[in-house]
Amino acid sequence: PIYEMPENEPILNYEPGSKEKKELKEKLSKLKNEKIEIPLIIGGKEVRTGDLGKSVMPHDHNHVLAEYHKAGEKEITMAIKSSLEAKKVWDKFSWVDRQSIFKKAAELLSTSWRSTLNAATMLGQSKNVFQAEIDSACELIDFLRFNSYYATKIYMDQPKSTKGIWNRLEYRPLEGFVFAVTPFNFTSIAGNLPTAPAIMGNTVLWKPASSAVYSAYFFMKLLQEAGLPDGVINFIPGPGSKIGSIVFKDPNFTGLHFTGSAPTFENMWETIGKNIRNYKTYPRIVGETGGKDFVIAHESSEIESLVTALIRGAFEYQGQKCSAVSRAYIPDNIWPKVKENLIENLKEIKIGSPENFTNFMNAVIDKEAFDKIKSYIDFAKESNEAEIIYGGKCDDSIGYFIEPTVILTTNPKFKTMEEEIFGPVLSIYVYDAKEFDNVLKLCDETSPFGLTGAIFAQDRKAIKKAEEVLVNAAGNFYINDKPTGAVVAQQPFGGARASGTNDKAGSVINLLKWVSARAIKENF
Ligand code: GLU
Repeated sequence: PIYEMPENEPILNYEPGSKEKKELKEKLSKLKNEKIEIPLIIGGKEVRTGDLGKSVMPHDHNHVLAEYHKAGEKEITMAIKSSLEAKKVWDKFSWVDRQSIFKKAAELLSTSWRSTLNAATMLGQSKNVFQAEIDSACELIDFLRFNSYYATKIYMDQPKSTKGIWNRLEYRPLEGFVFAVTPFNFTSIAGNLPTAPAIMGNTVLWKPASSAVYSAYFFMKLLQEAGLPDGVINFIPGPGSKIGSIVFKDPNFTGLHFTGSAPTFENMWETIGKNIRNYKTYPRIVGETGGKDFVIAHESSEIESLVTALIRGAFEYQGQKCSAVSRAYIPDNIWPKVKENLIENLKEIKIGSPENFTNFMNAVIDKEAFDKIKSYIDFAKESNEAEIIYGGKCDDSIGYFIEPTVILTTNPKFKTMEEEIFGPVLSIYVYDAKEFDNVLKLCDETSPFGLTGAIFAQDRKAIKKAEEVLVNAAGNFYINDKPTGAVVAQQPFGGARASGTNDKAGSVINLLKWVSARAIKENF
């Protein structure tokens, strides 16, 4: 039984009148009306610095949900010390005992903590109920359960012994502490970045994205309730570059587990490189960065499912997924039908607060994101190579709202076809249907990223060809489906090129990064 593969957590549907909807509504109003103070948690203790940041609701940015304390140099040093101390205790836990804490956390989240994590994600990160449920409930639970399961697989995998010789592989944690940096867009990523190294016996400094400190804090409290020993994960929100500069100087730094933008990851890697001779051991570097994810339609595409994929892939969670569709290549002979269907469906989309469960889209995360996305839309508006065929309105007077926006361009290498926008903007290039093979090549060469992508075709030969040409263009490749919404243990997630180190989140590949094995040979 210890080696049994878990089931994925079922998605609750929050239908009108359901128990879960009632509970969630109550939680939303409770959290919204109690402004909380969020301390750092170092060595299991609450630490306050008085240097405060604000957690606001992106869809109503005057509404403050919390004030959080930011870590300064003193607290970062304290957190490093605490993680090294905790390591001595954590080291004495058997791997089975370590797992029991994360399995318990999964059970707590599945039951008593579910509405809190979902409500915090809906309010603090402006996610609709479905997007929150698949993230801060299901995926987060899945990461905890499956990482425990994959860890078991690793520990059970032992080398061959022969007569009179017993060989074993001891999967030791890394020597030092791991630095985990989580993004704002998925609460569930906190179920992987700080916890995967911890499951494998490491102790961790965890810096959540400033715009998602709110939900991250609740997850930290949940881990404590599940019995995580003090100091195994130290919660240190604050300014990333300052925290990084102190962490990367420390000789005990032993690994980086990161999800965020490519430039930030590259800067971190550079700093680590500069310090490489100061470390006790070569650090492990695992990062998932950006994407410029594509949909390529073949003329044999089934139009309705293609349009559904474009809409859900590009606009769910306002396009703020690394996996979001942001460029599409559509053949000219089906384009009129695709366009008509697309626009008809876009007109049905409602935008507003996540507290109204019928809104499909909510606000983008903050002012910086709003301005960046708007600048791409403005660029397209002014260009003679592009036309906005739907949306384009941006309004940040109350919340950071941006309409689902579709840009049609005559230039397949137009700026919005190449650069990551991380917002509800889909760029479309219409190609001559006879040029399908060339479009595959074009797609492969157009962006430096390699995260997700999808091919739509009923023609098997076209699918085969796309698989061949786009072999390195997407670490997660979808056939006749949207390229978002990878499910833990079903589609291990990650990409290469400028999208990261492709150490597949929620898999043995990832967990193996957090151990340094000792091979032991014993003669009898
Ligand atoms: N795993 C998510 C998906 O498949 C994306 C994660 C991310 O945005 O970092 O949609």
